[in-house]
Amino acid sequence: LVSRKKKPENTIVDIKGEKVGDGNPHLVFGPCAVESYEQVATVADAIKGKGLKLLRGGAFKPRTSPYDFQGLGIEGLKILKRIADEFDLAVISEIVSPADIETAVNYIDVIQIGARNMQNFELLKAAGAVNKPVLLKRGISATIEEFINAAEYIMAQGNGQIILCERGIRTYERATRNTLDISAVPILKQETHLPVLVDVTHSTGRRDLLLPAAKAALAIGADGVMAEVHPDPAVALSDNAQQMDLKQFDEFMKELQSSAFVK
Ligand code: PEP
Ligand code: MN
Repeated sequence: LVSRKKKPENTIVDIKGEKVGDGNPHLVFGPCAVESYEQVATVADAIKGKGLKLLRGGAFKPRTSPYDFQGLGIEGLKILKRIADEFDLAVISEIVSPADIETAVNYIDVIQIGARNMQNFELLKAAGAVNKPVLLKRGISATIEEFINAAEYIMAQGNGQIILCERGIRTYERATRNTLDISAVPILKQETHLPVLVDVTHSTGRRDLLLPAAKAALAIGADGVMAEVHPDPAVALSDNAQQMDLKQFDEFMKELQSSAFVK
């Protein structure tokens, strides 16, 4: 179903009027994790100030260590809902359990399925059974074929509103957190009719690489870019080495806008 052979024209995923896949770049920013209303509101205000619409923030955080911050859960989704209403933004958040999908659709505009859950088939089926856009991230060690099949699981249940997200894969290289597989973008665009985003934060894991990676993503044909922004990354409860602060976010946007990849 996701194959371009089945459907030659691009799928456009409409998120509250933001049409991902329409040929224009769509930018998603927000903190790694929802920590408080004030924290998310500060970032929402900055996003709004740039005329952007899409805010991300994790409420359920699948952390490598069980002793790390696990997220605010449903409380975090409620904060995102309040932010979406107050700032007229669309919110994207990861759901990790099939049992939470039906509740989550009341609070968020896009269900994110994280890298660690790309082959959680029950979760994919649950996300496929609701009428809500899904942002599906590539698994940490997933091949492109496995990634496409994960999207197929969602669409097979009836939900065709899927955005694919390349977020880097695990290789022997340690200079970056993961290896951004930039060639996955045109391959996914050729093989499927789905929009493709590139997460420059989790792929590079390096603040100094966010801008060049974003430019490369848009140059190679990505439909958008995701990056993490936090009011004070030094005290962030997760991913504090790679989130941008508001000044860096402002510079990132200015550079990207002057780069000819964003109008
Ligand atoms: C995230 O985007 O919040 C995240 C945890 O990313 P990934 O699933 O790609 O590691
Ligand atoms: Mn993160």
